[in-house]
Amino acid sequence: MGRLDGKVAVVTGGALGIGAAACRRMAEEGAAVAVTDVKDAEGEALAREISEAGGTARYWHLDVADEGEVERVYREVAEAFGKLNVVVANAGIAGANKPTDEITLEEWQEVMSVNVTGVFLCTKHAIGHLRRAGGGSIINLSSIYGLVSAPDIPPYHASKGAVRLMSKTDALLYATEGIRVNSVHPGYIWTPLVADLGARSGFSEEAFKKELGSRHPVNHVGEPDDIAWAIVYLASDEAKFVTGVELVVDGGYTAR
Ligand code: NAP
Repeated sequence: MGRLDGKVAVVTGGALGIGAAACRRMAEEGAAVAVTDVKDAEGEALAREISEAGGTARYWHLDVADEGEVERVYREVAEAFGKLNVVVANAGIAGANKPTDEITLEEWQEVMSVNVTGVFLCTKHAIGHLRRAGGGSIINLSSIYGLVSAPDIPPYHASKGAVRLMSKTDALLYATEGIRVNSVHPGYIWTPLVADLGARSGFSEEAFKKELGSRHPVNHVGEPDDIAWAIVYLASDEAKFVTGVELVVDGGYTAR
């Protein structure tokens, strides 16, 4: 018996990194998974890998900043799999790394359109489907940087703080309808997003990884499955009394 048997889940930004791990682990636990992303080749390959391993998955192209696409893809997923129970709003970008006074309005808006507007649209268009399913679980990817800050990537930190409170507002709004909304707050997880930050840092990959790891009391960075298991928990009925929480998975980063 899988922990997610009978559930249908959509994952945004599901082709790579944390999203891909969430797709794999949720499918293993019995969910039918809609892998969605803007990286079509990687997304198609992941859906194929899951299907070949005996799971249920299909890929859809979905840019979370495009309202029409969000509405259409959710509708197609619900038609293909019969319903929608779980939404993992995972797509996110790091954006420009400069002091605030050097960030252009375009750079600010680019991050907000994916990390904040994307989460808003993914909730807005999920609610009707989740109501029809008798409830459901929305899982929004925030960050340690939705709880504390750091002197870099200003639009990113602002966006992740917004996701934290958007999740709590929606948890309160929809609690009586059996729709749970929670945010997940990873420490540094080694994914293409973080590898790209490393490439932009001027350090070697090994030195960058070591330095990032040293910021965590456990003295290493995390891996995508560390977050995927938190997502499986929040998606499952094991978490039926859990809404409006910040699930922090950070190797102790925010404990000090
Ligand atoms: P990732 O490796 O960059 O994977 C994210 C995926 O989302 C990529 O395939 C990316 O495509 C895609 N994407 C970008 N913009 C999109 C859009 N508008 N619509 C749909 N998909 C889009 O990222 P990750 O590290 O797994 O992070 C996943 C989430 O966790 C993000 O919200 C991130 O902020 C959060 N998070 C990550 C860490 C970490 O240390 N990795 C820590 C805390 C929070 P492109 O490659 O083309 O952009």
